[in-house]
Amino acid sequence: MSTPRTTTKATTGTSRTAVAVPPTTAPATMAQASLYQQLRSHLATLKLLDAAEHLPAVLDAAVAEGLSITAALERLLGIEVDATQARRLASRLRFACLPSPATLEDFDYDAQPDVDPRLIADLASCRYLESATNVLMIGAPGVGKTHLAVGLARKAAEAGYRTYVTTAADLAARCHRAAIEGRWATTMRFYAGPTLLVVDELGYLPLPAEGASALFQVIAQRYTKTSTILTTNRPITSWGEVLGDTTVAAALLDRLLHRSVVIDIGGDSYRLRDHQARTHTLRAAATHV
Ligand code: ADP
Ligand code: MG
Repeated sequence: MSTPRTTTKATTGTSRTAVAVPPTTAPATMAQASLYQQLRSHLATLKLLDAAEHLPAVLDAAVAEGLSITAALERLLGIEVDATQARRLASRLRFACLPSPATLEDFDYDAQPDVDPRLIADLASCRYLESATNVLMIGAPGVGKTHLAVGLARKAAEAGYRTYVTTAADLAARCHRAAIEGRWATTMRFYAGPTLLVVDELGYLPLPAEGASALFQVIAQRYTKTSTILTTNRPITSWGEVLGDTTVAAALLDRLLHRSVVIDIGGDSYRLRDHQARTHTLRAAATHV
C-alpha cells in the first residue's frame, strides 16, 4: 500500500525557502493531513481497499490533469469497481471448476462440420440461460463435446452467471455420499443453485440405479428454471441401458428435451485425427516401396 508523501520541504507550511515543486496534493497543513487520513480511513472502513490504495495517485493525477471533483471521484471509484468485478469473476471461475482451459475461440469448426458456428455463437451470447434452455451434446469420444461445454461454461461465468461443471459419475458419487451422510437436501440445493450446470460424460461409466435417480432429481428440479448442458457418447435410444431403467430414462429425457438445443456431432475424433493422419501417411509410404 502507498503511504501519503510528507517529504517535500516546501510543503511543510513552515519553510520560507521558495522551492519550485510540481503540483501535488500532498497535505500542506496538519488539518489537510488529518483530512487525508480520514478519507483513507473512510475508504478502509467501507472496505474500498483498492480505492484506498490508489488514492494518492488519483489525487495527484487530479491536480496534474486538472480533473474536476466529479471526474476524480469517478476515476477513484472506477478503480474499485474494476477490482471488485475482477475478484467476482475469479471467484465465479473458481467455483465453476472448469476441467480445462478450453475456449470457444480455439474450437476448430473446419475440423467438425457438424457443429454450426452460428449456433455456438448464439449460445455464447448466453441468451439460452434466460429461457432455461438445455443443451444436449451427443457424439463419439473425442469429437469436442467437453471442449464446447467447457467453453460455454466459461462464457456463462464471464457473463456473470453462477456456473458449475461436473461429470455424471462425480454427481452420482457425491449424491451417494450425501445420502449416507444425511446431506441429501443440501446437496440437491447445491445442484439447483447454478444458473448453468454442465453434466459431462453421461454414458462412459454405467450409473448405479441410485446414481441415475440422483441425476433425474437434479435435472427435474432444474427443469424450466435453469439450464443444464449434458454431454453423452450414447444415442438417446440407449439411455434406458445407460440409466438402467427405461422409465427413468424417458422421464429424464422428457424434462431435458422439453426446451432444448441438441447438438449431434457425428464427425471423427479430434484426438485421433493426427494419429489417423500419421497412420495414413505411413500406410501410403509403405504401399509405395
Ligand atoms: P469429447 O468430450 O467429445 O470426448 P473433447 O472435447 O475432450 O472430446 O476433445 C478431445 C480433445 O480434442 C480436447 O483436447 C479438445 O480440446 C480437442 N478438440 C476436440 N475437437 C476440437 C475442435 N474442433 N477444435 C479444437 N480442439 C478440439
Ligand atoms: Mg468429454
